[in-house]
Amino acid sequence: TGDLDVSAIREDFPILEREFDGTPLVYLDNAATTQTPQRVIDAISEYYETYNANVHRGLHHLSQEASVAYEEAHDRMAEFIGASGGREELIFTGNTTESENLVAYAWGLNELGPGDEVVLTEMEHHASLVTWQQIAKRTGATVRYIRVDEDGHLDMDHATELIGPDTAMVSVVHVSNTLGTINPVAELADLAHAEDAFIFVDGAQAVPNRPVDVEAIDADFYAFSGHKMAGPTGIGALYGKQAILEHMEPFNYGGDMITKVTYEDATWNELPWKFEAGTPKIAQGIALAEAADYLDEIGLDAIARHENELAQYAIDRLSEFDDIEIYGPSAGEERGGLVSFNLESVHAHDLSSILNDYAVAIRAGDHCTQPLHDKLGVAASARASFYLYNTRDEIDVLIDAIDDARQLFG
Ligand code: PMP
Repeated sequence: TGDLDVSAIREDFPILEREFDGTPLVYLDNAATTQTPQRVIDAISEYYETYNANVHRGLHHLSQEASVAYEEAHDRMAEFIGASGGREELIFTGNTTESENLVAYAWGLNELGPGDEVVLTEMEHHASLVTWQQIAKRTGATVRYIRVDEDGHLDMDHATELIGPDTAMVSVVHVSNTLGTINPVAELADLAHAEDAFIFVDGAQAVPNRPVDVEAIDADFYAFSGHKMAGPTGIGALYGKQAILEHMEPFNYGGDMITKVTYEDATWNELPWKFEAGTPKIAQGIALAEAADYLDEIGLDAIARHENELAQYAIDRLSEFDDIEIYGPSAGEERGGLVSFNLESVHAHDLSSILNDYAVAIRAGDHCTQPLHDKLGVAASARASFYLYNTRDEIDVLIDAIDDARQLFG
């Protein structure tokens, strides 16, 4: 599909050579975690083999090398998402979930109170939904939800109605991990800013596979995870506008995030270190920057086109089944590279376990969007999700395996 040399790309990912009982792996669970190219694995090895040391504190060679690489990784990731402020606007966290919690605790607990509203969408991931719900309970703020319509779009009239003078924070998912919907986040940012509210964008499913420009969106905060973008686990990032981060209280306290400490009090380090208490994720951060280089060399535009094409092909082929319900935007509309569905004849969990016999990896469950599944009237769905190394042939394998599962259960 598109302009990607997929067979060359596949060579970059050693895990794609795996077979189970002689059957080649078909990995279609990329919205959960993507696979890792050799050069990212090498970046981790190189760190541990040649310059592993703690950062910032040491004056010795290894610490200096590690510090430079770790700090530059921040600049690289800031650049990757269009943040012109560099490292001061880019905090390394454990994952998108921690990025959400950082803002909810450090900003939300201090700034929200009774009468304030946090506006979410009905398609939020639990990472944002549960977090803001709990912070709202603790502060007396109210959570409101922008409706999702039949086609998996946000009801923007409802958004305009909800976002008002009481709104303090709008937290929205950029690309839905369940529906594949690409949300109009720049438009939502305008609505939030017109009411002097902040907007937090959950980019976990956007940054891996399309060009993202946080300044064009005018996001106040933007979060993503390394393990969904060909990077390592254990690392994520939080972008925040510098002026906002400077005024925010720290999240975690401890070493590295301070400048001066007495028995009575402490002052905070400069950005982004104020938000990175303790020994940070050094190897992971450096390897994440390598993943960004890899994706940029291939081209985020081309990756987005490839994923959309695979999603459209999957929808076409899945539509051959007469007992299927496919969620999210209808065929033809641009979407993220994933498709969630349910068959009448086979429960999603049974389907995914049968597909495993064909070495086809998909996900079954609520994909951390339980309230959205409630709204759809189901407890679970099956989800096939694609990345730059997937092919139409693999979707054909998926379809054949689903067909067999239907015969078995039908
Ligand atoms: N938001 C979205 C849209 C996601 O898809 C995910 C991962 N499923 C998350 C947040 C949470 O990411 P992580 O588990 O890396 O914190």
